[in-house]
Amino acid sequence: MADCLFCKIRDGEIPAKLIHQDDRALAFHDLHAQAPLHALVIPRRHIATLNDAAVEDEALIGHLARVAAEIARDAGYAESGYRTVFNVNRGGGQTVFHLHLHVLGGRALEWPPG
Ligand code: 5GP
Ligand code: ZN
Repeated sequence: MADCLFCKIRDGEIPAKLIHQDDRALAFHDLHAQAPLHALVIPRRHIATLNDAAVEDEALIGHLARVAAEIARDAGYAESGYRTVFNVNRGGGQTVFHLHLHVLGGRALEWPPG
């Protein structure tokens, strides 16, 4: 989608530190990391928010979650713990409107989040 930051990262038009890529998803480090591990897992296909995920996207969303777990495991946080977050729309803290799953680990994560 034109003017989508994460579509541009997917297409290599904007550089990012890639962690994972496959036929459905890619993952890269967040530019403004909020924890020692802060990755973003995105679908290759542009989906604006979780609200726009259809029944047909259930397997894709599950895949994003599994990729997130793999990244956390590879970083050594499977046992100690980590957090995955979909921010949805402005009130949920979403600033980039291409679906992405945050993966945060490596520090104590408080609950509830701010
Ligand atoms: P949101 O606030 O939409 O849930 O998350 C968007 C995330 O994208 C933020 O954590 C922000 O730091 C990250 N971000 C914004 N611009 C860039 C960029 O150009 N490259 C990377 N790798 N991350 C970005
Ligand atoms: Zn996009």
